[in-house]
Amino acid sequence: MKALEEKILREGQILPGNVLKVGSFLNQQIDVPFMNEMASEGVRFFSDKAITKVLTVEASGIAFGYAVAAKLNVPLVFAKKSRTSNVSGSVLQAQVYSYTHNTNYTATVSADFLTEKDTVLLVDDFLANGEALKGLAALAEQGGAQVAGALIAIEKGFQKGGDALRQAGMQVESLAIIEEMSPERGIRFRP
Ligand code: 5GP
Repeated sequence: MKALEEKILREGQILPGNVLKVGSFLNQQIDVPFMNEMASEGVRFFSDKAITKVLTVEASGIAFGYAVAAKLNVPLVFAKKSRTSNVSGSVLQAQVYSYTHNTNYTATVSADFLTEKDTVLLVDDFLANGEALKGLAALAEQGGAQVAGALIAIEKGFQKGGDALRQAGMQVESLAIIEEMSPERGIRFRP
């Protein structure tokens, strides 16, 4: 998505550890009209799938997940990173290694919200090594739901999570794929 690539070049900051900061439109301040444009662009890839739910992980997946779910007119489910009193009864859980925090967390969803009746679209803001997506796919599978694929705002293609998941057969669509990123050479996108 050309407009997203241009926005990343204009507003993105490259932080140590191959982390891209896009706090001005995706990760802290949310550019709502632009998020809606991203969602419109993204859902086209999955127009042949009868998606019943969007699944993401708190916190930074929620804004894009909400926009995508609104376009599809389906509920958004988000996995919690810890079990709170909001998640009661039977739960689905998966261990996930967090790239940005360098720790593990237990992604948790109430079993009521992902069932064998569901076809789920996984959504996240970033894709790096694919740990978050693998965790979300594991939650869907535990609930007996089908995974339609994954829609990502920004994929860091030089970290191989996306390519590995595609090779494993998942439909992974990213609106912008960064091929190379460094403070010295800037950002280059996959054509
Ligand atoms: P993965 O699990 O694919 O290794 O990493 C994806 C998760 O880590 C996403 O949920 C995202 O929140 C976070 N993440 C990974 N790389 C970046 C990055 O460069 N910038 C930001 N803002 N988040 C990232």
